[in-house]
Amino acid sequence: MTATTNVQKDTSMDLQKSMLADHYAKLARSEKEGVKNAYTFVPGNLTELLLSFDILPVLPEINALQNAMRNKSRGYIATAEKLGHSEDVCTYVKADIGMSREGNVGPTGERLPDPSLLLLSYTGCFTFLKWFELLKQEYDCPLAMLHVPYQGDGKATTSMRDYIVRQLREKVIPQLEEVSGKSYDEDRLSELLARSAKAEDLFVKVLESAKHKPSPIDGYFGGVYYISPIFTAFRGTDAAIEYYEALWAEVQERIRRGQGPITPAGDMKEERYRLVVEGPPCWTNFRDLWKMFYDEGAVIVASTYTKVGGVYDDGFRHDPSRPLESLAEYCLGCYTNLNLPARTDMIAKYVKDYDADGFLINSVKSCNSFSAGQLLILREIEERTGVPGGFFESDLVDPRYFSGANVKNRLESYFQMVEQKRSARADEIAGGVA
Ligand code: SF4
Repeated sequence: MTATTNVQKDTSMDLQKSMLADHYAKLARSEKEGVKNAYTFVPGNLTELLLSFDILPVLPEINALQNAMRNKSRGYIATAEKLGHSEDVCTYVKADIGMSREGNVGPTGERLPDPSLLLLSYTGCFTFLKWFELLKQEYDCPLAMLHVPYQGDGKATTSMRDYIVRQLREKVIPQLEEVSGKSYDEDRLSELLARSAKAEDLFVKVLESAKHKPSPIDGYFGGVYYISPIFTAFRGTDAAIEYYEALWAEVQERIRRGQGPITPAGDMKEERYRLVVEGPPCWTNFRDLWKMFYDEGAVIVASTYTKVGGVYDDGFRHDPSRPLESLAEYCLGCYTNLNLPARTDMIAKYVKDYDADGFLINSVKSCNSFSAGQLLILREIEERTGVPGGFFESDLVDPRYFSGANVKNRLESYFQMVEQKRSARADEIAGGVA
């Protein structure tokens, strides 16, 4: 690896690291400084609206996954199970409840503030409701709910959008005004949304760079880093634009040099397989899993997980000229709010657009929102695209459900299957030519 590549790699990674550290430090100081916060979810988050009131977002899923990557989730889950939460409950929830019971110390080791507000944006996963019911029992603070209608018929209608806007105007904004002591400022919100759209343009360019061969990025393992600023606390900020500008410059340079993705095990040397992946990552064994793909020369060119906090590669952008309508449309379009046929269409399109050799599902034990219907999706994608589908199982943040040997076996058999399909196709072509 050249010195130039190192410098370029470090720019976006370092920017992201310092953005996150800075955010957690702000949260740690917030109670002392009188700054308010809202606990809220990644899908359907209203980051720009919160920031327009100077309210800091706290995202429990992000705390859970960051804790898992630091080997802290096992203990928190054990604490929650001792409190009576069953084995089947989403492990993000248990990791979060356990953390709050053990002093609410966040992943960086700093104490997180108690919530000033619980802002429940409900986008398709029923667990969101139950999770915040539990947090309401833990904390003495107000709760605002934004009900986002599920796209059951595969369409986001105008009446759905207007219903969300009405809730924003009549319920959510008044509560944000009360918590923050500030009045709603639509001009400020629009300024933030204009910055979001800039960052989103760059983000989509990064995702779509995986159409190149070799792909300069990994759209799943690498993708979880690329989504971080836009999916968490930074939409609407200059810092997010700066991050995506740096990242896009690095990706362009990799394309220019014909390089594959950077992985923790080193640069991907040869792109042997291009895959589309469905399902959330396994955070407790994130690097082990990535290494298994690296060893096989398998690059993930597109994933559905990178759409969980918003689908932008279909052209959606936050629109400063229609602030609340645009926030409503954003919420409606999150992946968790899409029905199975819409998810299937998205995956089939990715297989085609990214010229993938196969499609893999990481079925996560405790996430019903993702796992329900995945086998149906698998069969449908195989039929529609002709590429082989595969399936392995793990969990989000509970290390008890990751068996490295099993996953490795599954993946090895899967790659053999992809190879067999390839040679069969090559034989067919040769036969046709002869
Ligand atoms: S069940 Fe899945 S989508 Fe729902 S909160 Fe848990 S991880 Fe998120």
